[in-house]
Amino acid sequence: MELIKTDGVVLKRTNVGDNDVILTVFTDRLGVVQASAKGVKSLKSRLAAGSALFTYGEFVLKPGRSMYSVSSCEPKESFYSLSTNIERLAFATYIADLTAYAVREEVPDERLLSLLLNTLYLFANSQRDLRIIKCVYELKLLSYIGFAPELSGCVRCGDVSDIDYISATGGGLLCTNCKTPQDRARKLSEQCLIAMRYIIYTEDKRSFAFSASESVTEELENHIESFIKEHIDKDFYSLTYLNMILGKPQKR
Ligand SMILES: [Zn+2]
Repeated sequence: MELIKTDGVVLKRTNVGDNDVILTVFTDRLGVVQASAKGVKSLKSRLAAGSALFTYGEFVLKPGRSMYSVSSCEPKESFYSLSTNIERLAFATYIADLTAYAVREEVPDERLLSLLLNTLYLFANSQRDLRIIKCVYELKLLSYIGFAPELSGCVRCGDVSDIDYISATGGGLLCTNCKTPQDRARKLSEQCLIAMRYIIYTEDKRSFAFSASESVTEELENHIESFIKEHIDKDFYSLTYLNMILGKPQKR
């Protein structure tokens, strides 16, 4: 069978036996795929460097009956500093899990891949608040997979002036008149709305470039988490772990 050359980033490694792993790789040509890497744990393996978690590289994949197998992989960027800091690693692990779960298999999305690489780079190197970087990625991801919150006005009446609430169940902003108990709407501050609009409407690279007060950052995290939970119905252990490291009370 024909070999396929594609660039990709390793989102996940699942051990199989003593020596092999199955990689979940987000590639530019094939989208998210599973690929087995045989003998990768041996010290002499040619695949060891390229198959490490979060490594971005050039993969040569061989199609198989149930999944691809990795014929070769050459690392281009390893985001090495992620592995030297437990907090940075926890942020990256959650984002990789979220991506592997939320992005449909074998549907290429180069823009999202590039946003993910940017996010990993910032998690590895940025001195800014990593919670904001996480929020930007989560909100952009939701928007890429078709679940962007409606942020232009009230989702029911279109009112743009008296917007005090947001609801993940309702799909976006709600005014006081339109919200019902079923919406489980939450209070939304003006600063948080500005931040959410900035993230959604700003071009990918620049969308990370803002700062927010502690209270707005917390509010932003909470609203975005409720949208993630609404649309991506999965409890990620890596998120529970991240929140534990950050000392956040568990709500889930
Ligand atoms: Zn309304």
